[in-house]
Order: sequence, then C-alpha cells, then structure tokens
Amino acid sequence: MFVDKAEIILKAGNGGHGGMSFRREKYVPNGGPDGGNGGHGGNIVFMADNGFRTLMEFKYKRKHKAENGENGTGGRSTGKTGEDLIIKVPVGTIVKDKDTGRIICDLSEHGQKYRVAEGGRGGRGNMNFATATRQAPRFAQGGVKGQERTVILELKLLADVGLIGFPNVGKSTLLSVITKAKPKIANYHFTTIVPNLGVVEWRNFDPFVIADIPGLIEGAHEGTGLGDQFLRHVERTKLLIHLLDAAGSEGRDPLEDFKAINLELEKYNEKLAQRVQIVALNKVDLLADADETAELKAELEKLGYEVFVISAVTGQGLNELLSRTITLLDEIGEVEPIFDIEPETESVYTPDFMEKQFTVEKRDHLYIVKGDFLERLITSVNFEDLDSVGFFQRVLKDKGVFAELEKMGIQDEDVVQLEDIEFEYFK
Ligand code: GDP
Ligand code: MG
Repeated sequence: MFVDKAEIILKAGNGGHGGMSFRREKYVPNGGPDGGNGGHGGNIVFMADNGFRTLMEFKYKRKHKAENGENGTGGRSTGKTGEDLIIKVPVGTIVKDKDTGRIICDLSEHGQKYRVAEGGRGGRGNMNFATATRQAPRFAQGGVKGQERTVILELKLLADVGLIGFPNVGKSTLLSVITKAKPKIANYHFTTIVPNLGVVEWRNFDPFVIADIPGLIEGAHEGTGLGDQFLRHVERTKLLIHLLDAAGSEGRDPLEDFKAINLELEKYNEKLAQRVQIVALNKVDLLADADETAELKAELEKLGYEVFVISAVTGQGLNELLSRTITLLDEIGEVEPIFDIEPETESVYTPDFMEKQFTVEKRDHLYIVKGDFLERLITSVNFEDLDSVGFFQRVLKDKGVFAELEKMGIQDEDVVQLEDIEFEYFK
C-alpha cells in the first residue's frame, strides 16, 4: 500500500458516577434517595472530510480525549453527558487497532462516520436502588471508564488523475517532474515512496494525486494485475491525461497509438474509459519546429479532445496543462467509484472491555478474580452498609463469580481477592 501513516492514542470520556443523596425537605425527616445518574462519557468518532488531504496533524498531536460525563447529584439530577470528540480525517483513511492489527473502519466517503472509542456509561444514582426492604440505599454505581485504545491511521492515496499512454512516451518522466520538483512535497513524509503515484502541488491550489495507470493496465494484461490494493488508489480517478510522443521518437505513429490505447482501456474497464480525457503531446523539445504538432493536434481536436503541447524534460507547456487539470478537477467534482471494491469495515463493533466478563486465578487458598466490571462494582459499594454489601454479593452471584469459584473447588475460609479488596469465603 502507498500510504501516509500515523499512530494516535484515544481516550473516550469516563461515565460520571451515580449520585448518593437523600431528599431533605422541611417536615420530612427521612426523605427518600434522590441521587441522579451519572452522565455518559463522550465517544470518539472519526469522520472523513474532503477538506483534509494528509495525516500530518496527527504526527504532532498524538493524544485525543473526549469529555467525561458529570456525576449525578441530588434532586434526581442527571449528570451532563460528555461531548463526543469528532476527529476529521481525509477521505481514504483506514483506522486500525494497534494491538490486534484489525481494521476498525475504512472511511472512503466524505461525511462517513465511525465510532472508534466508546465513552463509559454513567453510573446509576441511589434513587434507583430503593426497594421495599431497603428504603435508604447508601450506595450508588460508579461510572464506567471510557475506552482507551491506540489506533493506526493509514491514508490510501486516491488518485484524482490517471496518466495513460504507450510505453516510453514519458509518463514516468512527467510524473517525476510534476510531483518531486515541488519542494513542499517533502512535507508529506510518505512512509512508502512509490514511483508511479505522487502528489502534485501547483501554486496555491489544492494538491491532487496522480497515478501512472498504464502500469496497471499492462500488469492486468500479463495476468499480473496489481489487485485490489492498487485498484483502490485509482477508484476515484476523475480525469485521464493521455500522453503521446509527438516527436514519434520511437518511429511510431502517435495517432495510431492513441486509438490503440483507448481500445485497450475500454476492454480493461469501461467506467475508467468513460472518464474525462485530455491529451498531452510530449517531447516537443525534440522537434525542430513546434508547428510540426499542428496536424496531429487538429486531428485530436476534431475527435473532441483538448490538446496540450508539452515537454516533460524542459518543462514547456506544463503550466497550461496543470492549470487546466486543476480547473477540470474542480468542475468534475465527486465521481462514482470505478471499481466495486467493498470497504473493509467490521460490520459490528463491540468494545472488548464491555464483552469480557471475568477470570479467576487460583493460588493455593487464594482466588484472584479479575474483570472490568469489578472496578465499577467496587466503587459503587459502601462496605459499611449492609444493604450495599448485599447488593455487591448479588452482582457477584448474577455474574456467575460464585459459581465459578465453587467449580474451582473453593473451600470455606479461602480468600477471594477482587481488585484492592479481599474477603474470606463462606458457603
Ligand atoms: P514511460 O514508459 O511512458 O514511463 O516513459 P519514460 O518516462 O520512461 O520515458 C521514456 C524515455 O523518453 C526516457 O528516455 C525519457 O528520458 C524520454 N523522455 C520523456 N519525456 C521526454 C521529453 O519531454 N523530451 C525528451 N527529449 N525526452 C523525453
Ligand atoms: Mg514508465
């Protein structure tokens, strides 16, 4: 893949804690519980945006954090929900999980969004825990921590312009001249430098990406097609520049070549062949008189093509060719993808930390229980309050912790360790 890459750390917002509070009114000595729920933590959402072209900014800003939810308070008041953090990335960005290497999402269209890190749920306030026998619950649920993950961003370079033409007409030369001659190009820091794909920065216009497509066609012809990975780079190509050797320096007839290539292109892919096409007559520096191109130019124009006379070597005519290219790209706007390639996206995304239950490790008479829900459970419990401890035991039972301990052969007086608390077990 020909990509620009960045690694960033995401931290979604924590859920706010549930409130623990009792109603206090005049003449009402023991008001009921009125602690409201904590607000949910903000998510981190990625969004593809046409206004961005590179992953540069992520090389400088590596940590991204969404807002925490606020705690619930008295008067049944719910804590404020943390705001989502929207991270805008260029169209064509793939987000991967660093630990597993799996693709989380492939943002291939402007405006496409994906929730990459999930905010923690807010804890429930004590107003939810009153029952007939427990009228004054002195505990509330803690908020869940927001998801933390490190992700790798990869930007596929999507070519806006495709270069086509017979071998030796000067495609590689032109590509190297218009993409590498600009000192700003060095700023892109592409991790892979690929000779047949490059970024053109022309004056103050938006940069565009240009690809040498014949390499692709020739490859396909020989049964050595470059495959989906490469096709992805040209799926959005809007405009084709058809290069001809105006000097006929190889003893060929440029007009014949032009027709032959277009025929081949149609066979290869009809949609690609239907893209807007302009013609560049290259190598005019080899001609004694530029007027020698007049006849060829007129014939191509008769066929309905715009024609430019250039020299990739001397730079003649490149200004006109590129200015027109930029105008055309602007006029053409967004296009339907040429190749039908499914975006690589996981269909359902469940954060791992929500799925995982618990594990038990046995060391003699010590049983160490680990699980993400435990931390939340323990922050919810007031161990000096019997009701609260009862609630704690019930959750452990419901989650199957006790059953698992029994299965592992736990005996009375064995010790169970959960996070930072320990207790002796009795059946
Ligand atoms: P490709 O096969 O289409 O990629 O063609 P190349 O870029 O490899 O060029 C083939 C040959 O033509 C090379 O020897 C180049 O130096 C030469 N060439 C390319 N463009 C020009 C040009 O504008 N003028 C001259 N004189 N030679 C050129
Ligand atoms: Mg070449």
